[in-house]
Amino acid sequence: MTEQIQRWLAERRPPTPCLVVDVDVVTARAHTVISAFPGARIRYAVKANPAPAVLRALIAAGMGFDVAGRAEIELCRSLGADPDSLSYGNTIKKPSDIAFARAHGVREFTSDAEQDLVNLARHAPGSAVFVRLLVDGPTSATPFGRKFGCEPATAVDLLVLAAKLGLEPAGVAFHVGSQQLDVSAWEVAIAASAKVFSEATSRGVVVNRLNIGGGFATSHREPVPSPAVYAEGIGAALRAHFPESRLELTLEPGRVVVADAGVIRTEVVLVSRRPDRWVYLDIGRYNGLAETENEAITYRFVSVDDRGGPSGPVVIAGPTCDGDDVLYQRTPYELPLSLRAGDLLDLPGTGAYTASYSSVSFNGIEPLRTYCLLDGRLADD
Ligand SMILES: *Cc1c(COP(=O)(O)O)cnc(C)c1O
Repeated sequence: MTEQIQRWLAERRPPTPCLVVDVDVVTARAHTVISAFPGARIRYAVKANPAPAVLRALIAAGMGFDVAGRAEIELCRSLGADPDSLSYGNTIKKPSDIAFARAHGVREFTSDAEQDLVNLARHAPGSAVFVRLLVDGPTSATPFGRKFGCEPATAVDLLVLAAKLGLEPAGVAFHVGSQQLDVSAWEVAIAASAKVFSEATSRGVVVNRLNIGGGFATSHREPVPSPAVYAEGIGAALRAHFPESRLELTLEPGRVVVADAGVIRTEVVLVSRRPDRWVYLDIGRYNGLAETENEAITYRFVSVDDRGGPSGPVVIAGPTCDGDDVLYQRTPYELPLSLRAGDLLDLPGTGAYTASYSSVSFNGIEPLRTYCLLDGRLADD
């Protein structure tokens, strides 16, 4: 946790639960990613954390945005993002969404279906189109399954069709799954992409852009590769599989840009022994910790009111009347045995996929409140 956040929490003692984001850390992470991939176009995935202060910092750092629909387009445009810096990465869109995007200047889209290409040609004629490839590599902590992307042969067909429809076939996009700890996942996907490129070329459609998505991991309880380590593995794969092409690289990082900048503060609501020790918090699956589903992301808990003394095994659960609102019951966790109702816990590294996943009013609980700090003060949104 940064000093800025620590000081602000100590002085302000905001109502819990809440997420506090250090925007200076967001800026620093953005520059780390940008310098690990020199020359690449970087499109931050807005869904990871759409707080206006975060997006403003990323515009200032020179990033563009991967947007998924009207609201994200409007948000980015209202904050001054150049329409050329926006790419519509969601393959699932209505014709009216496409028309809306086009009217707001968006000219880059990702697709994985014939019908969507037809809609794009009709409502955003001439746009650049990436075809999303279904990648089959090592599983990430939060895999996409088979929801997005098509098989290589279909990808080639779609690039050819895009050209026929008067769109600009840009190249291939993929996403290896979020919180992907295995760098070889990109190598597998890059190799598959290269095959699509060469088959498209042999059918008369030359493409030169590759969108390697997001997936770069952040550390919670285990160490993860740094952006530089990812860049090294990806660079080697690109040199091996695209030895002589003038490839234009695009990245869509989300988590790695914002996760480390955020801390969630939560209050213990109840500790019970029946006979296992259950700790119930005022944050759970529905007001910020959606990524604890299947215990995929294992957050760290730091006791603010630590009275010393031993720790013991606990089950950690959220505040709602829902049986799935249990955060960790298989993953071993220990908390101080002295922990009691009213005590505070901090969850570091929670700037990504928390507030943005929060439900509006399940059980009447309000969405997770976000405070963005800049130069020691609240950034005005
Ligand atoms: C969510 C998403 C991302 C960001 O993924 P991270 O794992 O957070 O880096 C990038 N691209 C697309 C298309 C996405 O849906």
